[in-house]
Amino acid sequence: MSEVLLPGATLGVLGGGQLGRMFVHAAQSLGYRTVVLDPDADSPAGAVAHEHIRADYLDETALARLAQACDAITTEFENVPARALELLAAQRPVAPAAACVAICQDRADEKAHFRAAGVDCAPYAVIRGEADLGTVPDALLPGILKTARMGYDGKGQVRIRTRAELAAAWDELKRVPCVLEQMLPLQRELSVLVARGRDGGCVLFPVQQNLHRDGILAVTEVPAPAVDTALQQRAGAAATRIAAEMGYVGVLCIEFFLLQDGSLVVNEMAPRPHNSGHYTMNACDVSQFEAQVRALAGLPLNTPRLHSPTVMLNLLGDLWFDAESGAERSPDWAAVLALPGTHLHLYGKASARPGRKMGHLNITAATPEAARATAARAAAILGLPTAW
Ligand code: ATP
Ligand code: MG
Repeated sequence: MSEVLLPGATLGVLGGGQLGRMFVHAAQSLGYRTVVLDPDADSPAGAVAHEHIRADYLDETALARLAQACDAITTEFENVPARALELLAAQRPVAPAAACVAICQDRADEKAHFRAAGVDCAPYAVIRGEADLGTVPDALLPGILKTARMGYDGKGQVRIRTRAELAAAWDELKRVPCVLEQMLPLQRELSVLVARGRDGGCVLFPVQQNLHRDGILAVTEVPAPAVDTALQQRAGAAATRIAAEMGYVGVLCIEFFLLQDGSLVVNEMAPRPHNSGHYTMNACDVSQFEAQVRALAGLPLNTPRLHSPTVMLNLLGDLWFDAESGAERSPDWAAVLALPGTHLHLYGKASARPGRKMGHLNITAATPEAARATAARAAAILGLPTAW
């Protein structure tokens, strides 16, 4: 995969959600043709791509069509069947590689990879069968039991304090393979995006600070408050090692816990642009989606420059319903957009549901204080908590 794919070539993406949509927008703005494979007729990315192949991810005819139509292919979600990426990779350049995506699909493999890369993560044990419940070290309690596969937005997780609760939690999670993690004393949550090219060269985006509500990302701030150069470098070095160790090509997001004692441990990673990186669309001179396009096409990766302190508010479907009556409503976009430095990104989803990611609002300003103040005003208009 040495040939550089110049604008005019066709880039494909497996998955048609909002991440695919923003990849397509970035690719099109650089002059690429785009093809999306997604089974959903209303897919946010399918609606904006040059071609939408509406089929299952393991439909071999559809995969052949995607390979034939595209010069290179990426994915927008990690739970795409690894088999689909392997089938495509036999015919076309695919990045990230199926093997990298497979590591990110399984928390046990992911944690083993962090250790192999020499990066600290939460102490953990893998639960594959009944016998493993008894051998869990006491030090892992209290902890969080997480399904090894298919977890997202805090789903597939149970917090436990005792061994009895551990057994009950494993039953609750249908006795599938799980990872038990020690509950860590978090000070804050941070994440960082790294883009790695085919030549192994990496560029890092600035570290962002994330606040979750009910297990879902709610607010991202950049620059992350009180993160000094040394901490930025620690996060960046860990991300670069994790990417290099698996020969990764593309954009990778690493989520970290900053513990109360100041130590930094990796939580998990995503083999694609990430919700916490949406701030880059308005805060940096290259977005995470443009970086994804560049890495896939083999174009040079320039170090992103943060030009505006930014707060990102995630816009979940809850905002489309009146908090008291439950009646459907439309958020007051005109009032939000009257605030300075507001950049609205809606994903074109046909219907809102509580917890569904409908869009995000980036608020840029000359100073972090001004971005926070405007974000609080926007949050008040939208009916979101105004303090974080
Ligand atoms: P995502 O949507 O980011 O994929 P997820 O469902 O994979 O989320 P995690 O990131 O593993 O879930 O955990 C969700 C949240 O739960 C974390 O952001 C953090 O706030 C909390 N959490 C997870 N693991 C731990 C831990 N070991 N100690 C303390 N808090 C934790
Ligand atoms: Mg997470």
